[in-house]
Amino acid sequence: MSEDGPKRTRPFVLITGTPGTGKTSTASLIAERTGMKHVNVGDLIKEHKCHEGRDEDLDTNILDEDKLLDAMEVILDKAAEDGQGIVADFHVCEIFPERWFDLIICLRTSTDVLFDRLTARGYNEKKRSENMEAEIMQVILDEARESYAQEIVHECPSNTVEDMETNVTRVEQWGKQWIKDKDK
Ligand code: ADP
Ligand code: MN
Repeated sequence: MSEDGPKRTRPFVLITGTPGTGKTSTASLIAERTGMKHVNVGDLIKEHKCHEGRDEDLDTNILDEDKLLDAMEVILDKAAEDGQGIVADFHVCEIFPERWFDLIICLRTSTDVLFDRLTARGYNEKKRSENMEAEIMQVILDEARESYAQEIVHECPSNTVEDMETNVTRVEQWGKQWIKDKDK
């Protein structure tokens, strides 16, 4: 959202993490419970065709970052104007302006659990092992810590449905507090 954009009365949250850690499931539950708007950034990229081509080797599309940021800014400004919160989910977090988010949740999944999820998703061996390695090396968490204030970045386990419930409740509670605190 633009620097002189509408002032927010509800918080903006980013759920990040390696593919398969549970970002979309968690974000949609948070949206359901809180009334925040779920922005599935992967879907947005498809809808707005924010692609610059395809990396066949990695079996992924090459992202047109500027186009994505423009599309997102419109959505975030609209939400701010409408007094609605945002819960965005994406596996990359460093491309967004720091001012966009009030809380960054980085989901973490243990190797064996992630292996099964990525296999079930039909990832080829190369894509699966790339993502497994990224999770083991905590690439996304490091990115988040480098890109945002330490105190807004939270690492949350996402192995079980109980974990998911805990994470959803945590964001819900945090959001209530954020709304209370904002006028102080
Ligand atoms: P992401 O958006 O991070 O790629 P998804 O939300 O699509 O991940 O989840 C991938 C798969 O793992 C889905 O089948 C989802 O139901 C399952 N899953 C995600 N998080 C959990 C969790 N905490 N406990 C159990 N299953 C989960
Ligand atoms: Mn997803």
